[in-house]
Amino acid sequence: MTMDFRLGEGSDALRDEARRFLDEQLTDDLREQMHRTGVHHDWDFHKARVESGMLAPGWPVEYGGQGRDALEVLAMAEEFQTAGAPTYGGSTTLMVANVIRHMGTEEQKRLIVPQALSGEIIIVLGFTEPEAGSDVAAAQARAVRDGDEWVINGQKMFTTNAQEADYVFLLTRTNPEVAKHKGLTTFLVPLRQPGVEIQPVFTVSGERTNLTFYSDVRVDDSLRIGEVDGGWEVMTVGLTFERSLPQGGDSRRLLRAMERWALTSVDDAGRPKSEDADVRARLGRAAAEIEVSTLLARRCAWVQNSGTLPGVEGSMAKLFATEALTRQSADFMDMLGPDGIRADGDPAAVAHGIAEYLYRFALGTTTYGGTSEIQRNIIAQRVLGLPRG
Ligand SMILES: Cc1cc2nc3c(=O)[nH]c(=O)nc-3n(C[C@H](O)[C@H](O)[C@H](O)COP(=O)(O)OP(=O)(O)OC[C@H]3O[C@@H](n4cnc5c(N)ncnc54)[C@H](O)[C@@H]3O)c2cc1C
Repeated sequence: MTMDFRLGEGSDALRDEARRFLDEQLTDDLREQMHRTGVHHDWDFHKARVESGMLAPGWPVEYGGQGRDALEVLAMAEEFQTAGAPTYGGSTTLMVANVIRHMGTEEQKRLIVPQALSGEIIIVLGFTEPEAGSDVAAAQARAVRDGDEWVINGQKMFTTNAQEADYVFLLTRTNPEVAKHKGLTTFLVPLRQPGVEIQPVFTVSGERTNLTFYSDVRVDDSLRIGEVDGGWEVMTVGLTFERSLPQGGDSRRLLRAMERWALTSVDDAGRPKSEDADVRARLGRAAAEIEVSTLLARRCAWVQNSGTLPGVEGSMAKLFATEALTRQSADFMDMLGPDGIRADGDPAAVAHGIAEYLYRFALGTTTYGGTSEIQRNIIAQRVLGLPRG
């Protein structure tokens, strides 16, 4: 049997389309805006993506997608990630739309999914709380039933893009009397209503996220996703989607910038950096790691194509790629010497300070969607069969 690691003609064609789209839409102005605001969502970019069929090409045609297979979609997503395009709002929206497709009511599929896929709305994730991060099932934000509505009170941490969004996919506590996993319910809560307060928080890389507060916020029961007290089952599906995103794009962008630097710089004796054994070793190591990240992500797409949701495969891909980005960005800062810590805006910064920026950015990537420690735990349990940690 032959093993073929190419993605195929459909993927090549979609990848080319994605490149053309990005050349046109991912302008220097948009990059500057993302850098200045720390917001990785832009409505014009998002709508242009919908127009050109590049938001949800993997969705069935009846939902407005193109029914493309997961490997084709991955080729496109790799390009968006490698370019550093503002896709975070689109990704969380599609993730929740997917949850609705799997577990939502017919009414939710008819009303919410088309709005999500047509770029009209974005949906963000409201899981984490100050006292419930890795242990997300400890969530305390309270939802109490009042006739056909629910009344929500509580606080969420890191509700990224809440300031842009129409809905938050909110994890709430509906029954405090039972074991923590059994008393949770998820809702799609409209964010633009009285009682919702959004406070910006900036990470060490300047990425904007938010604290969100909910005071007597009302949500109709028709916006409940899944059963009452069945929120943990919904979360399990949701987190699977979050962990099976493309990986390695930031590393690819970093490596390309470092390659250009090596090919265009010389040392004090006038020798090209590209001939320096230490530089070559660092570039080679990163290239091998990126190949691993790429293949692990492709394995997730392959699992999806065979009709199941990637589980532990997503944990492995996410763990490896985000830890690799942390290593590579540190390694390249070291390689660049004193210039390595110069940030974007400093005329002496190398490639707009990409290595030092991605070093700070990588810290977030090893945290969201489940920290590296949590992913290792999942792998130890599900791949090695160790007892629950
Ligand atoms: C930039 C950014 C964006 C984010 N966006 C969102 C978002 O949009 N929506 C959302 O809901 N959340 C979001 N998050 C939150 C993210 O999912 C949580 O930060 C993450 O789950 C970890 O939770 P915590 O920060 O409370 O850390 P904690 O859970 O308090 O962990 C602290 C440390 O202890 C370790 N640890 C905890 N438990 C264990 C254990 N059992 N075994 C071993 N080690 C353990 C962790 O790995 C970590 O190193 C975002 C986070 C960041 C940084």
